[in-house]
Amino acid sequence: MAPPVFRFAPSPNGLLHLGHAYSALLNVDRARETGGRLLLRIEDIDVTRCRPEYETAIYEDLAWLGIAWETPVRRQSEHLADYHAALEKLVALGLVYHAFESRAEIARLVAEREVDAAWPRDPDGAPLYPGNGKSLSADERARLIQSGMPYALRLDMATACRRAATLAWHELGEGPDGECGMVPARPEAWGDVILARKETPTSYHLSVVVDDALQGVSEIVRGQDLFHATSVHRLLQVLLGLPAPAYRHHPLIRDDGGRKLSKSTGSTGLRELRNAGATPASIRRLVGLD
Ligand code: GLU
Repeated sequence: MAPPVFRFAPSPNGLLHLGHAYSALLNVDRARETGGRLLLRIEDIDVTRCRPEYETAIYEDLAWLGIAWETPVRRQSEHLADYHAALEKLVALGLVYHAFESRAEIARLVAEREVDAAWPRDPDGAPLYPGNGKSLSADERARLIQSGMPYALRLDMATACRRAATLAWHELGEGPDGECGMVPARPEAWGDVILARKETPTSYHLSVVVDDALQGVSEIVRGQDLFHATSVHRLLQVLLGLPAPAYRHHPLIRDDGGRKLSKSTGSTGLRELRNAGATPASIRRLVGLD
């Protein structure tokens, strides 16, 4: 039987902190325990936020921690054709539509609709898409595209859910509310998620699902902040005919005030800690791994 495959998939949009170290080391430990392979993937599709110096820092910090990964590393920005092919499959299934509202327009529509009652939010707290992209006529859509308007390509969630029927995933870790075992997926909680934009031919959801399948990842070890996103990932896997990996979501490392660490959190940054005399062994202890 092929060995299990694990991956650590940071985005080079800031310096790594203790939370990343925890996630990366859990992947290392799982790969070691199971005789599995460990891949590193650079999730750099957001060109406005990702920078080459952060990518270099990822390699340096992980090597300092004593982590070894297989090469070549998959950099998402080099594989846009793979994501485009997946998007085209969803388009061919009639599950994708153009939405032309800007972020400001969406905020205005939500405010308008919230006069009487709260507008529904996704698990990350963002309002569900309130626009009319799905009901635009073909002529109107063609006219807007022709006029050069920016747009997002959104998943028609209701139709996609009907197509995919009941979904669940195998949770080996734990969700924020203790969910484990076979967890029912609820992608509808996310509304009509964005799959790509006119200027960015993919999205986090689409590229992560495509890459995990292409790279044969069998167990996804990542933070609980992505637990609910797994519902969308399961749906896309089913629609695209991709295998279902197991998931192991881990609790997040928090700062003293109980907040999730951010990439600008100096005192918990791996670099800061290293400069202050931390060792790879002390980092393991700090994240509770020894
Ligand atoms: N690139 C994502 C991040 O840095 C992680 C994606 C994943 O593990 O699925 O938060």
